[in-house]
Amino acid sequence: APTIGVFALQGDVREHMHALEAVGARAVAVRRPRELEEVDGLVVPGGESTTMWKLAETFELLEPLRMRIKAGMPAYGSCAGMIMLADRIEDGIEGQQTIGGIDMVVRRNAFGRQVDSFEADVDFAGRGEMRAVFIRAPWVESVGSEVEVLALAEPGDRIVAVRQGPLLATSFHPEITGDVGVHSYFAEMVREL
Ligand code: GLN
Repeated sequence: APTIGVFALQGDVREHMHALEAVGARAVAVRRPRELEEVDGLVVPGGESTTMWKLAETFELLEPLRMRIKAGMPAYGSCAGMIMLADRIEDGIEGQQTIGGIDMVVRRNAFGRQVDSFEADVDFAGRGEMRAVFIRAPWVESVGSEVEVLALAEPGDRIVAVRQGPLLATSFHPEITGDVGVHSYFAEMVREL
């Protein structure tokens, strides 16, 4: 089984670890550079991207994360994790940085300006409808030519799931619905690489 880490300095780490184990991966928490070295792939959970960024700097994890992603490690970011994997963000706080890797612009708290949280059925990667929970969620404002759009959601047919090579991101939280479709898709990506 692949070993998949969950960025564990902040966010809903435990839910992702359970979902990863449910799809047959070995899930481990990643808080230090040495722990990052031991994983085949990484999940960046939902939570608060500004806090994640600051803690990643404090714990000297930001540069190691960028280096592993540049070297091709598969990664999946959910909600705040999607923000962390974006090359560019809108409506971040002053100076907010990301890990980056996906050639896209992500607007932070975009759905949240309209409604704090909501659920919707989204068609993910052509695999049929799945229940998606959005909590102060970002949306993808624009994508580069290498980025594949995997899901859209109302209101406004916004881009809410994308893939660029070994990198996957969703605006929503699949880890809290009991539907492990996104985790199983990501675990397959890790096994293939
Ligand atoms: N609004 C949060 C952020 O900017 C993301 C919310 C979430 O992960 N549920 O990081």
